[in-house]
Amino acid sequence: MKCKIVSIFIRRFLFIGLILLGISEMNAQIIEGIHYHTGKPVRVTINNGMIENITPLDKMVGENPVYIAPGFFDNQVNGFAGVSFAFGDSDLTPEGIEKATSELWKKGVTTYLPTLTTNSIEVLTRNFKILSKAVDDSKLLGSIPGFHLEGPYINPEDGFRGAHPKQFVKLPDWNEFLKLHEASGKNILQVTLSPEMDGALDFISKCSQNGITVALGHHNADMKTITAAIDRGAKIATHLGNGAANTINRHRNPFWPQLADDRLNISIICDSFHLLPEQIRVFYKVKGVEKTIITSDVTHYAALEPGEYKTSTGETIELTKDGMLRLPAQNVLYGSASPITKGVGYVMQVTGCTLADAVKMASTNPARLYNLNDRGLLEPGKRADIVLFTLEDFQVNIQETWVKGKKVYEK
Ligand SMILES: [Zn+2]
Repeated sequence: MKCKIVSIFIRRFLFIGLILLGISEMNAQIIEGIHYHTGKPVRVTINNGMIENITPLDKMVGENPVYIAPGFFDNQVNGFAGVSFAFGDSDLTPEGIEKATSELWKKGVTTYLPTLTTNSIEVLTRNFKILSKAVDDSKLLGSIPGFHLEGPYINPEDGFRGAHPKQFVKLPDWNEFLKLHEASGKNILQVTLSPEMDGALDFISKCSQNGITVALGHHNADMKTITAAIDRGAKIATHLGNGAANTINRHRNPFWPQLADDRLNISIICDSFHLLPEQIRVFYKVKGVEKTIITSDVTHYAALEPGEYKTSTGETIELTKDGMLRLPAQNVLYGSASPITKGVGYVMQVTGCTLADAVKMASTNPARLYNLNDRGLLEPGKRADIVLFTLEDFQVNIQETWVKGKKVYEK
């Protein structure tokens, strides 16, 4: 009798197990493509938003090779498709954040850090509060893990300040920063600042102790100060080669010490306007694939028509027909109008690096910099943040984008 009851239990258990297995298999999704790293055809199985396994295939069906890679990760997005994270004049809304995110998905960007640039503390606080809800917004599928604050603690000098409005540039203030961090839901992942400003080195130490990545940018620091900043935990130079005056001392300028210190990572804007090809080649040779991150610095003008626009602080900016965004009054660039996707192809074109290396610089490296170990690699156990694309004449053409196992874009 006892035996019979046990046997019924086992059978029921097996039956439920089989049903669960069936449901699990029903939920599994399959994507096939040429693996971006090995160049071999693979089948990627996704379950519950995660990559379950990757198996080799004999050959691909179809004529054009479609590459499969981890989704791109952009650590500097000031806005996109008419939605600005940084400004105070147009009201930032949850719908706006969703629009910017879904437009970025179309470009293969599956993770990004909305970036707030120098502005009044009131505007920064307000926008951080609105953005804080995006981190857990289920519609965004985890595409926004946190934020980047670029400024207001930067060098006020023309040229080094770039297009950041002078009236809001100020000295680092830890208590003020903590309030901004609080408004963001403690989601500021990176601060870009100038290390030569009074109090900046102590500020860097505090950020490092609190797990916030410090980036050096819009600065004119000397060798000693840059070394001290790195000693205190600064990890990366923001958009190296930009955020500097057009005329600098050939010996004593901020570029040499940042290039010379092997501890410092760099981000570079590879939109074909911010840096010359030879600059990218040199930066890449010095820092290598491990320490280089491709970023976009893309602004909300990205998807607009060419022409003149007024910024929130009344300055005139120009978006040229070929996609250059500039501030004519200072003859400086005003961020970029090209998403990181362009940079992936462009860096291959100018450095001769492989697709695997370009993707590493546009996905794996930024994820690692912020310790976001759930993404940035095409591996079992990682989030199924995946892009499928063709590559023609160094142009990455996105065919499909998947975020957390959900297909969010198909060409
Ligand atoms: Zn900048």
